[in-house]
Amino acid sequence: MIVTLLLAGLLAAAPSPPDSARAARGARATAAAAHADSARAHAPAPAGRAAPADSARAAGAIPPFWQTRAERSGYRLTSDYDETMRYCRTLAAGTEWIKLQSYGSSGQGRDLPLLVVSKERAFTPEAARATGKPIILIQNGIHSGEIEGKDASLALLRDIAVLHTRESLLDHAILLVLPIFSVDAHERRGPYNRINQNGPEEMGWRTTPVGLNLNRDYLKVEAPEMRALISRVFTRWWPHLLVDDHTTDGADYRHDVTYGFNHGPGTPTAVDRWLSVAFESRVVPRLAAMGHLPAPYLEFRTGSDPLSGVDFGNSRPRYSTGYAPLQCRPAILVETHMLKPYETRVRATYDLLVALLEEINAHPRDLTDAVAAAEAEVIARGRERDPARREVVLASKTSDKSLPFAYKGVVAKLETSDIAGGPVPRYSTTPWDTIIPIYRDIVPTLTVRQPVGYVVPQEWTVCRDRLDMHGVRYRRFARGWADTVEVERVLEWSWDARPDQGHRPVTITRVATERRWRSYRPGDLWVPLDQRSAMIAVHLLEAQAPDGLAYWNAFDSALELKEYAEDYVMEPIARTMLAADSTLAREFRARLAADTAFAHSPARRLDFFYRRSRWADPEQNLIPVARALRAPPETVLAP
Ligand SMILES: [Zn+2]
Repeated sequence: MIVTLLLAGLLAAAPSPPDSARAARGARATAAAAHADSARAHAPAPAGRAAPADSARAAGAIPPFWQTRAERSGYRLTSDYDETMRYCRTLAAGTEWIKLQSYGSSGQGRDLPLLVVSKERAFTPEAARATGKPIILIQNGIHSGEIEGKDASLALLRDIAVLHTRESLLDHAILLVLPIFSVDAHERRGPYNRINQNGPEEMGWRTTPVGLNLNRDYLKVEAPEMRALISRVFTRWWPHLLVDDHTTDGADYRHDVTYGFNHGPGTPTAVDRWLSVAFESRVVPRLAAMGHLPAPYLEFRTGSDPLSGVDFGNSRPRYSTGYAPLQCRPAILVETHMLKPYETRVRATYDLLVALLEEINAHPRDLTDAVAAAEAEVIARGRERDPARREVVLASKTSDKSLPFAYKGVVAKLETSDIAGGPVPRYSTTPWDTIIPIYRDIVPTLTVRQPVGYVVPQEWTVCRDRLDMHGVRYRRFARGWADTVEVERVLEWSWDARPDQGHRPVTITRVATERRWRSYRPGDLWVPLDQRSAMIAVHLLEAQAPDGLAYWNAFDSALELKEYAEDYVMEPIARTMLAADSTLAREFRARLAADTAFAHSPARRLDFFYRRSRWADPEQNLIPVARALRAPPETVLAP
């Protein structure tokens, strides 16, 4: 009690924003108070100073001790990693409802912080699940130069759990908050990291120190930060919703906050419905009523031209919003507008989180039921006996059907620039309201019929690693097993001309499915698809999946030629083959007639025969993962 009073005195007397040293002292004092009298330590706001009705709008009314660096600096600055960690520790010490955890280490060895927020102190995945409440994962700073989510989240957690001005938001939810995800990039601070962005004065960098963009890494899980997030947060807590806070680039307009999510074919029905009904029909209008101008993510069909219409399509599973639905969960991309001042952007993010948590607080079961229904849908597909009912969408685009959208732009004109040698938009501050088309009707561009399950030879360790990371359930063979299975033969493929994420991705444009008799060994993997993560397995293992293992070069060695024939060895064999096989001879002549380059290449002409000879590699161009035609019997599987 005495400690609490002393602390209150310290807070009331604090004349100016605390420097780091004072914040650290405060953390210790608060921790001591929490230890001495945890109930009283909840609200160290000075007596006689009523908590503001809307904390984020009245930073001046927040006790100086509890102000974030952004609030204390009038939103000129944001805290660095060390100060953020101190603030997190202070939060955790100032309330019983918050626990600071580490879920791993970054490439440079920094702790990856996770704040778990729960009124019932359900600080483990098991305890959280036992409450039956929705678990919401709020992720900030995956692009750490786009950091308003951190300042909004820290203020919101303080308002919920310390100042108690918004504590009801926690009545029906458990929050997992990543204050900064890309922590190393967050410390590559500078004023010149984002040329389009209006503050804070210094900000972090887009990629990790080894140049990986974490928001391209969800399905391929190569960066240590993403591997920690997926294996130690996502697939342990199984959050019901992922919120991914960013700052956009792109055109100028008046909308201060835009959002994205995957929808339509490829997204589980119940997840699609929750995003449309709960988020877009209730949260977005609520956000507008709070004074914002929300809009779907404003990616125009043509450059920065709004009149070309908004393309509200889907993201591939390398992105947060593409990944979570494959795990039967909705994900919401939040993009504040980079040209708005930092304060405006922090408040937009804060208010969006408030509106979202109000919705979840009012209808918590809508979210948990949607996730349960999505899981049931995916599991049922895995048990479907009719192959025609096992279709999975791997890629999609928007059709040319459009809806009207009330766009809040600014008047702009195109001026011809002698420097650029072409037109450059010049934006004014004059409002321009117009109706533009929004394209949000999704049509599949690539679907596959998922098999009963996949069989993965154990030596392809990269497959097992990814399945483990994503929580995909599989079983090992305890005994040998042989069966006819489907394998995919790659007929046409190319390496992308430009590197991407340190890869030269492989685009496979044509495959043939072949039936082969295959023998499997004890230790090989059986991946059944009657499980919640089935779509992850399909997107990893299908040859043409847009972000699959084949795309990210995991199977390149299967596409390389290993043995070959010298011309003086092959030519006599080719002559014998031609004499013995009239069908082959016809095929050869047809090829010579149809393909001039082939006809003029002695190497390719002889290779034609080598690949059809007994010496050809039977595994050449075959994806090593097989599509099972039936499940292996229980007797050959390890328990
Ligand atoms: Zn971003």
